[in-house]
Amino acid sequence: MKKNSLGIIGGGQLGMFLCQAAKKENLRTIVFSTTENFSAKNFCDSYFISDFNDNTKIDKFIDSADFFTIETENIPKNFLKKIEKKKKLFPNSNIIEISQNRLKEKKFLNSIENIKTVNFKSLKNFDDLLKSFYLFNHKAILKTCEMGYDGKGQFRLSRENIGQFKNLNLQNYILEELVNFKKEISVIVCRSQKDIVTYPPVENIHKDSILRETIFPADISQNVKKNAISIAKRIANELDLEGILAIEMFLMKDNTVLVNELAPRPHNSGHWTMDFCKISQFDNLVYSIFYGNTRKPNPFKECRMVNVIGKDYSKKNNYQKKYNFYDYFKDEIKELRKMAHYTFTD
Ligand code: ADP
Ligand code: MG
Repeated sequence: MKKNSLGIIGGGQLGMFLCQAAKKENLRTIVFSTTENFSAKNFCDSYFISDFNDNTKIDKFIDSADFFTIETENIPKNFLKKIEKKKKLFPNSNIIEISQNRLKEKKFLNSIENIKTVNFKSLKNFDDLLKSFYLFNHKAILKTCEMGYDGKGQFRLSRENIGQFKNLNLQNYILEELVNFKKEISVIVCRSQKDIVTYPPVENIHKDSILRETIFPADISQNVKKNAISIAKRIANELDLEGILAIEMFLMKDNTVLVNELAPRPHNSGHWTMDFCKISQFDNLVYSIFYGNTRKPNPFKECRMVNVIGKDYSKKNNYQKKYNFYDYFKDEIKELRKMAHYTFTD
């Protein structure tokens, strides 16, 4: 029988947009959510609400769909492995495991010829932290290896605050050199066994380590653009990616590109593709999974995407009138929570 159902782990806004893209292709979507109220609830065909320890529910979820994908990389490895015993997961669990651990991710990236990240040190104890902090000239960020997102689990160190970390178990942390980049850019790559496409580099503006705005196209030279795309393709090829992967990068003052991190799923910096590309990041993920191919994105207009964060959501009516507004239907407003986004062209 023709395969026509997609299991999605996570029901946030990325899952919601993915359900909408799948629906256009007459596919069924089944969401696995760890929370009662979630963005994708009214957009999927069915759902499981469960924690990651309920093996009965997990088994039922795995039986319920033909193919599987994720909208967050923070999923226990045994869940991913369980899926792969019976069904196909896009991207595969190896790629997700690399992306969910900053140390593994950095080691992997630096193992590829001509690809570099910021300098980093893995830590065992406070003594290591002090040594590395000194090595990085007192400019450093301490990051948890796992479960961090939107700047959570990150601490900018200074001589004044470093003492606070004395009693912390630092086994699962890395210290990164704090770099003074010129810009942040990202490239989204979608790949199947047959072909590969990339979305052009966009410029990302962060505040408090959370994405605020994405600008298409990034204001960068042709050489930097080529280099960023080539880096994205080489990473995808090295991982033998099937599915979608976003690559966040730092563009340094001397125009070198450092890879910041990988996200093996649709990405916030790709939301503009829903309004200003013929084929959105979500469409391409669906095509790579169900048809085993990808399509050219064909972006057609310069644009911007702005995240609506926390209390800004109260201006919803205003945004709705002026822009292409996308509500995430979150159950409550929280500080630094992504509530919605909008896009527009100048
Ligand atoms: P997250 O998983 O929370 O997105 P990131 O590592 O991408 O974690 O960090 C979030 C943001 O914090 C980055 O986009 C960047 O603006 C800033 N940042 C992170 N690491 C560094 C660094 N080593 N040097 C300078 N800025 C950084
Ligand atoms: Mg990031």
